[in-house]
Amino acid sequence: MWVFGPLFNYMIYDLSSHYDNTHSQYRSTSSFWNQPEKASDSWNWKCLLKLRVLAENFVKCTIGNGRRASFWFDNWTPLSPLINSIGTDGPRNLRVPLNAKVCDTCNQDGWSLTNPRSEESLRLHTYLTTISLPSDTQKKDTYDWVVDGKTYAGYSSKAMWAVLRPRAAAVGWFSSVWFKGATPRHAFTMWTANLDRLPTKSRLLGWGMNIDPTCGLCSLHLECRDHLLLSCDFALFIWNAVCIRLQLPQVSFSSWPDLLDWTRTKHVNSPSTLRKLVAQSVIYAIWKQRNNHLHNQTYILPSLIFKEIDREIKNSITARRLKKRFMNLMSCWLH
Ligand SMILES: [Zn+2]
Repeated sequence: MWVFGPLFNYMIYDLSSHYDNTHSQYRSTSSFWNQPEKASDSWNWKCLLKLRVLAENFVKCTIGNGRRASFWFDNWTPLSPLINSIGTDGPRNLRVPLNAKVCDTCNQDGWSLTNPRSEESLRLHTYLTTISLPSDTQKKDTYDWVVDGKTYAGYSSKAMWAVLRPRAAAVGWFSSVWFKGATPRHAFTMWTANLDRLPTKSRLLGWGMNIDPTCGLCSLHLECRDHLLLSCDFALFIWNAVCIRLQLPQVSFSSWPDLLDWTRTKHVNSPSTLRKLVAQSVIYAIWKQRNNHLHNQTYILPSLIFKEIDREIKNSITARRLKKRFMNLMSCWLH
């Protein structure tokens, strides 16, 4: 969602503007909100389509001339998208086609909807009496991200995170993900992995995609989060290298909570801050390598990935060496 926020803005504003004209050929084109997903669609596009159910709660439309806004799919009334509140019978009952724009449902004399047949339709009629009719003398319809009643000019990942994060579950894992001195891109990947929302193949299968389900790094097991990041041979090599460096016994994480416990364990030679720093760096590096292999057919040996992790950790500690928690970490990492 965070990664795709700017793309959503593009879809909502720029793609909609293609419809915002008087050329009839566009009138039959469906809105972004009801585009069907096709097998030939790109991965990014499919992700965007799947995130619509989340985004539609936050993207509000203000009607101007009514030429851009989809009558059924845009969030332009307090009733949420009308296709949700009135239902799929709505287009037939109100005699408003599924691809209608708001301007199609009125003329200079007023709204041209059929008489309401349901409570929700009645609420819609009532609401329409409270707003001015769309007309060509008004500005274009506009879209805003509205989060917790506050309007944002563009997509705000900070506001979205604040409203979507699972607060109740935050207690147990929060300190393993968000700690002072964390590298933001590493913390973000860790946070996404912690929620099991990285688009691993097992999750993509769950979304109905027809893909090879085997692990992108070893090709031996189903690619789920815990296998890919914890128990795949590729991951095991890196975790073992980390343990050797920290002078700790070899670890074998049987589940994600095992990893979180490991990051919170205090030890004189491997303080919790160092473990969190290392764990996030490892998770980030494995996920990056998996994507490189999958999308670019680039395979780098785990020994070289560990060298990269080593360099990242040294850089992170050096950059934060004046912070109290980081002062002794370099000697712990290098001994
Ligand atoms: Zn594997």
